Amino acid sequence: MLSLDLRSLIIMSGIMSLMMAVVLAFMRMGYPRSIRGLGLWAGAPALVALSTLMFAGRGALPDAISILGANLMLLSGIALYYFGAERFYGRPISWRLWGGVLLALVPLLGWYTLVEPDYNVRVLLVSLTWAAMMLSLAWLIWRQGRAVFSTRFAVVLAVMHGGVLLLRFVSAWMPLPEEGLLTPTSIQTLYVAVNAFMTLALSVALILMAGDRLREEFEQLAARDALTNVLTRRAFLAACEQELARCRRYGRSMALLLLDIDHFKAVNDTYGHQTGDRVLVDFVGRIQSLLRQPDLLARFGGEEFVVLLPETKQDEAVAVAERILAEVAAPHDGVPAITVSIGVATNRPDEMALDTVLARADKALYKAKAEGRNRVEVA
Ligand code: GH3
Ligand code: MG
Ligand code: MG
Repeated sequence: MLSLDLRSLIIMSGIMSLMMAVVLAFMRMGYPRSIRGLGLWAGAPALVALSTLMFAGRGALPDAISILGANLMLLSGIALYYFGAERFYGRPISWRLWGGVLLALVPLLGWYTLVEPDYNVRVLLVSLTWAAMMLSLAWLIWRQGRAVFSTRFAVVLAVMHGGVLLLRFVSAWMPLPEEGLLTPTSIQTLYVAVNAFMTLALSVALILMAGDRLREEFEQLAARDALTNVLTRRAFLAACEQELARCRRYGRSMALLLLDIDHFKAVNDTYGHQTGDRVLVDFVGRIQSLLRQPDLLARFGGEEFVVLLPETKQDEAVAVAERILAEVAAPHDGVPAITVSIGVATNRPDEMALDTVLARADKALYKAKAEGRNRVEVA
């Protein structure tokens, strides 16, 4: 039969919780502020660790601390896991709900600790509250999280733990021999071990979730141009390759517009670099107002931009380019007037590589520049 010294087990789990608290606290300090909830998640295992110290003092410390205080500390830590998840997903924190539940538990647990000590009733109260918190956490992450390993892992853990706690709740109704927290019956050993392990694993899952969030943010950053917020060259090319592959498979056509602002150097020289930047932002805004939902706009570098028009034939693409030309040349308040030259190319059935389509668009752009700028050319 499984037999463990429960006091040592509880202390061990406390030490590991403390480690998790330290890891999460360092993540809180090192990760970008946009990843929220890490502070609460660091506080959660810290409170759990504190509670294990209080639990382990059962017999040596007054019951008010080792039973009442320890259980409330533990449940406060679990609540912090939930609050942290709410903050992680940018949702309002339900301080009142769980704070109210914990407050309501104080007189109840106090009664069954100090006035009419009853381990079984305390297990009922604590395991039910804890189960409710874990299942709420599972639900929250399931609803809010993206379908990646870390969130699925956290949900499975929280559901399993909630289930075990419910089983413990049910088992507390059954007539079992006299027991207490540190009585090494199989149920009690299993209960303590599962709680220790699950709480530890939950911290790991949350750390993975924060890591995933960080990666997503970096991917987002890498895909967007810092000045104009349109796609970067790399993100655009990746999307273009996909579109070209789709075109080949289904025999569709797509168009690329290569845009280069005319005499942009003169704008910088005359008005200064900052005004030049504002012109670029304004330029992007104007183009975006003309594009449809599936169209993609990217900054290719400097004052050169590119547009992908899916499901578009050459004459339609030229019409879009002409509209962009007119919109850009129209005077706008607050920014110097500019014009743009545009090279248009559509994919040919025999063309396998994106580079060849781009090269033709580039050739067309060169021609537009050579023929006097502020015009559209096709190649
Ligand atoms: P052309 O009509 O032949 O295209 O002439 P141009 O002056 O636009 O062409 P060129 O490529 O010689 O100059 C591009 C200028 O764009 C040079 C550079 O200072 C400016 N530029 C590139 N990136 C930025 C930017 O982020 N902000 C600002 N303000 N200027 C930029
Ligand atoms: Mg230019
Ligand atoms: Mg240029």
